[in-house]
Formats: sequence, structure tokens, C-alpha cells
Amino acid sequence: MGEAPIGSIDRLRTAVLGFPRFGPDRELKFALEGHWRGEIDEAALQVTARRIRAHNRGLAAAAQIDVFAVNDFSLTDHVLDTALMVGAVRRPVPGLAGEFALSRGDAAHRPLEMTKWFDTNYHYLVPVLDPHAGFALDPSKPLAELRDAGEGARPVILGPFSLLRLSKSADPAAVEPLELLPDLVRAYADLLRHLAYAGAEAVQIDEPCLVLDLTRRERESALRALGELAGAAAGLPVTLATYFGGLGALLEPVLGVGLAEVHLDLVRAPEQLETALRVCADTGVRLSLGVVDGRNVWATDPGRALPLIDAAVRALGPERVTVASSCSLLHVPYSAARETGLDPEVRGWLAFGIEKMAELTTLARAAVVTGAERESVIAAMAGAAVARRASALTNRPDVRARVAAIAPDDLRRPTPVAERAVIQHAALGLPELPTTTIGSFPQTPEIREARRRHREGELSEGRYRDLIAGHIVGAVAWQERAGLDVLVHGEPERNDMVQYFAEQLDGFAVTEHGWVQSYGSRGVKPPILFGDVARRGPMTVLWWRIAQSATAKPVKGMLTGPVTILRWSFVRDDQPESDSAWQVALAIRDEVWDLQAAGAGIIQIDEAAFREGVPLRRSERDAYFAWATAAFRLCSGGVSDHTQIHSHMCYSEFNEIIEHIAALDADVISIEASRSGMELLDAFERFDYPAAIGPGLYDIHSPRVPDAQEMEDLLRLAEERIPRERLWVNPDCGLKTRRWQEVEPAIAAMVEAARRRRSAVPEGAVR
Ligand code: GLN
Ligand code: ZN
Repeated sequence: MGEAPIGSIDRLRTAVLGFPRFGPDRELKFALEGHWRGEIDEAALQVTARRIRAHNRGLAAAAQIDVFAVNDFSLTDHVLDTALMVGAVRRPVPGLAGEFALSRGDAAHRPLEMTKWFDTNYHYLVPVLDPHAGFALDPSKPLAELRDAGEGARPVILGPFSLLRLSKSADPAAVEPLELLPDLVRAYADLLRHLAYAGAEAVQIDEPCLVLDLTRRERESALRALGELAGAAAGLPVTLATYFGGLGALLEPVLGVGLAEVHLDLVRAPEQLETALRVCADTGVRLSLGVVDGRNVWATDPGRALPLIDAAVRALGPERVTVASSCSLLHVPYSAARETGLDPEVRGWLAFGIEKMAELTTLARAAVVTGAERESVIAAMAGAAVARRASALTNRPDVRARVAAIAPDDLRRPTPVAERAVIQHAALGLPELPTTTIGSFPQTPEIREARRRHREGELSEGRYRDLIAGHIVGAVAWQERAGLDVLVHGEPERNDMVQYFAEQLDGFAVTEHGWVQSYGSRGVKPPILFGDVARRGPMTVLWWRIAQSATAKPVKGMLTGPVTILRWSFVRDDQPESDSAWQVALAIRDEVWDLQAAGAGIIQIDEAAFREGVPLRRSERDAYFAWATAAFRLCSGGVSDHTQIHSHMCYSEFNEIIEHIAALDADVISIEASRSGMELLDAFERFDYPAAIGPGLYDIHSPRVPDAQEMEDLLRLAEERIPRERLWVNPDCGLKTRRWQEVEPAIAAMVEAARRRRSAVPEGAVR
């Protein structure tokens, strides 16, 4: 290395865009739930919230982070907080109770709709704007959190463009949210003045929507708004944070609007840097480089991050470069070091929130030294990257050889779906409008207790098996009494439809404390796909056998598909996701074969996350659908024509992807439909879907029990759109979150609805 070290500073500036809100032991979850149950008052809840924030700040200080976000915390959701702050939505009752009424509903109010925050597993609340009400700023939340935090704290605010783009209008025919942008920007300008007056040294405005596919009008309004904010900042340096992708055509104009600093996600879109450096070279704009992945759990490879940082330092000088996480660390757990139950080899490859902050400081230090000094600064990080690449766990020749040998025929069922339907009809002997359920039955306290005692070693293998078998046999008997046609074993052995499989596959690890907020007080603990995947042995056959030997009716085998397993896990970043998908699909394929060999005539492969896996940008979608459908077909390809493959998907926005669902070549799909009143079946008027379909008749997300008449009406609507011989009768989704008191009458009514329709003359039929 010929260049001289940058003598004047001992490291670059570091920044964290946001941190987990849950607390290291999900303190927020327990405080919220305690408060909702009336066990702790608001003051006690706020004490916990303040403690979590102070704890997070302490972690950042210990890691020597220079700029740490405040106001990233929320008792509900940051989108809702922002909407409340600018008066875009109003509390139906005053105070915190009003916020909870919006986030989770109360006796008198329906909650706001919830939807996925970009392509993460976090869900935000969709504000509904009254377009005629105007805005009114209440800056008390960011000001209070700023006051608590002190030096180095940078308030983070969701930007006005993204807030509107993520909202709905209460009166869309009259006003679209985006038309309100100029008005809203005035409220934000006001906010900047308040923050500056309160002593903020900087502010972070998040505009993640800038990375989406935008219309020209949207791009123009966004740029205009940013320009106005830059003008209104009056000395308060604004960092515009963009993440979850690149800015594309917006990159150059955004860098030119006059903001103090622009943050780029260089994990998802490293190609942005070259243009950014060219454009920024002769301006005063600072760049914040998102080089530490905020979306995944892997230790950063300095060989990937440092060249980006070096290039920026060369072009801009060290004073204008910040080293940062790609996005908020909200999407990763707190501490990898704490996962002492993990294989130490794998644990060494991981970096959760705390470790990522340490990485930032290491990179920021390495960036200002060269040669042997640099090497010693990054030695540990570089060592982890090398070890992971070379590990036997990430390079299993047996797995790689199997993937390489996948042939086109492995993805195909040779007989077309319509002909298979005839064969299966004869083999299964099911009535018209066959009734079934999606897989899971209520997870009762006894079931959870049995699993817990088994996990903690209090129950022997044999005793546990007997307990679960008892639940399965009981569930089968109940289904026979209820008159269902195709039965399920009820999934009592499964904690979660992904984790259950991850625990039984080589290449996956399950953490003990690795919680990530999903919404409100709910968290998920995604498994970690760290290596090459292989099945150790049958995963579900035993439970299926127990169920099938208790009945003469067909019992569905029940599996989770590769796309869903990947989407609800942290996945490898050292190979394309499709490569991981092939490996998982081969493991599921083996399970399908084993179920078929055991005698299962119907096998369901759930792809609950197929729709949510669709990439944010249109240009990436074809590639996704290609591997996602192929991976599903690899699971089911090669089964006998007699074996009926089902799939289940839990969403109702169907229209844009129906062709791809058809491409899965499943024999039967079940989907969520009851809330849309079968409207989603309109897609079938445009597209001739060839297989059978079970639109959900029973909304399992609600404690409400629909009666037979209501479900019969829905079924009649379905028959108007789908020929009766291709219709199945089932609920919207699995029943695991419901109670038996609700499930029993609802399923009885569903079976009754099917029975009534069977004896009715089909529409348009001639008798
Ligand atoms: N078979 C699973 C169940 O019934 C499917 C759940 C889902 O789609 N989310 O629970
Ligand atoms: Zn579902």
C-alpha cells in the first residue's frame, strides 16, 4: 500500500440509523402486554420504555458510535407515530389509549390496517388520511426523546414523501395522499425549527420510498419536497436516509437538492457509489455509506466493505464520509455473543445489533490506516469471513452434487393438471365440493406445555410421542364427527411452520434470544440458514402415519414450501437465494416422496410467503418468480399422477400473480378469500386457472363465528366464478390461533354450507 495514512483523524464518523425497540429480553413486549391487561399503569410502561432507550444508548456509547438515532423508538409503530406527530391521523380517544385504539383496536374502534414494511417482516400501521383536515404539528415525542438522550443523538423522522406514499386517503376519489405533500412539508419545516431550537445537532429524515418504482409525478413531487426541506433546515444538518435498495434515476437529483448528507444502502445497491462520488466530489455533500447489513445477521466481510469506504475517502476526504448500517438495526436481534447454544463455528460468523455497531467502529478505524496496521485492526473480521467461506458447513459436496444434478424433468409432472384431476377423482372418491381445513388446530395450553416439557428434557421421547399422538387421534376423531372429507393431523407438534422444519434440517440454526419485532408486542425468531441444507431423515411421516391409521378418510401430508422457509428465516448472503432454495426444495422433495411411499394420497406444501416474497422493484420480479415457482415444482415434481398436491397461500391480492400461481402446477390451492367476499376470484374471469381452488369461507383472523347461511352465500358467489367441480370448501387459513369453542361451530357450519350447496342445482345446469 503506497498511500500515506490519513493522519489528522483516528477514525471516520460512524452512525446507526435505528436500533431494536424490544429490549434485549423483550422487555417492551411484556410491559405492553402487562399494560393492556391492566397490570401496570402508563407511568410504569413509560419507565420500561425509557430504560430500553437508555440501554440502547449505552450499547452505542460502549461501541463508540458517533451518531445514534433517537425517536426510532415506538410504543406502537413509527409510521403511526409520524402520522400522529403531523396530525395526519387523530386519536379516537386522548392520550396513549388513543394510540392503542389505532394500533390494536378497542371495544369501540377498529384498528388501522397493518401491512408489511417494505420487504421486511416488520408490519406498519397504514394511516388513513382525512384529506380535508389539514396538518397540525405536535413535536413532543421527538423532542422528549431528544431531551432524554443528550449528545450525539440524531432524531430520526419518517419523511413526508414516504409517509404519504405509505398512507391511504379516507376519500381517494377526491384527494390522493400525494396531493397533500406541499402542505405536509410545511409541517416538517416547522418540526425542523423546533428540533434546532431544542438543540438537535442534526436530523435524519428517512425516505425509503425513494427506492421504489415511482412515476414521474411522484419523483418530481419527492424532489420538490426534499428541496423545500433542505431550504427550511436553516443550519440544522439534514441526513436523508434511503435504504432497502438504490435510488436509480433519482440518485443524481437527490444529491443535488442541497441536503447536508445522503445515506445510501450499499449492501443492497453498491453500484450507486460510483455515481454518488462523481456527483458529490465538487459539492459539500457528505455521504453516509450503509456498508453493514441491517437486514441480515452475518458478520461484515471487510474485503467487501473497505473498498467502498476507501473509494469514498479518496473522492471526498475523510471528513465527508460516515460509516453506517445499511438501514435501521430494527430488523436484527440484539446480541449474537449471547447465543451460547449455537455451534461456536457458526456463532463466529454472526453479527447482530451489538456486534454490528462494533463492526462500524472497526471499519471506521481501518479506513484511516494502511498496511500492517489496517490488517491488525480488521484481523478478527477478516478471519470470520475467510472461515465462513472455507467451512465444510457451507460447502457440502454431497448437497452441491445433488443440486448440480437437478434435471428439467425433476421440475415437471408429466401429465397435465386436468388429466390428473380425473385420475385423482377416481382414486380419492371425494364428493363434490370436498371439505377440508388448512392444517393446524387450536394450540391449547396442554399442547404447548407438552412441547415445552419435551424441549426442556422433562418428557422422554416416548412419553412425548404418546401425548402428541393422543392429540392427533383426538383431532382425527373430531374431524370425522364434523363430517370433513379430507382430514389433517392438526400440527400439535409444531411451534411454528418454518422453525419446525429448520430444527430438523442440517444447515439451519435456531437461536434462543434472537427475537425481532413483527408488530406491536409480537416478535418472531427467524431461524438462521447458515450452510448447505440437507434432511437428516423424515420430518413429518410419523405424525401423518398416526393420523392416517386412525381413519379411513384421506389425511393430508403437511409441509412448508421452500419460498416460505427462506422468507421467514435469515438466509445466506454468500450465494444467490435461488441456490439456497434448490437445497431446501430437495429436502422437502425427499419428504414428499417419503409421505407418498407411506401411502399419503394428498400432500399440501404451504407457500404462505409466496406473495410477500415478491421483490420491491418490478425489474427484479421475473427472476424471483422463475426461481420461486421452480423451487416449488422441484418439491412436487416426479410424484405419481395419483398423488394430489395442494398448496396454501394466505393473502388475497391475487390478480397480479395468478399466472405464477398457476405455474406452480399444484392440483389444489387454498387461499384467503372470506373478507374480500370472493372478489378476489374476479381474477379468474381474466385468467383461465386450470386447477382446483378452495377460497376460504371462514375468516379465522376474527373471533367471530360465521353461520352456515353466510358461508353458503360465499360459496354460491364462488360458484359464479369457478366451476363447481374445481371448488373446494375450507377456512381462510390454519386454526392454530383460534379456540375450540370457535372452531367447532364454525367448521360445523362450513360443512353444512357445503352439504346444502351439493344438493342445490348448479347455476346454469340443466336437469
Ligand atoms: N398449514 C399451516 C397451518 O394451518 C398454514 C399456515 C399459514 O399459511 N400461515 O397453520
Ligand atoms: Zn394461511
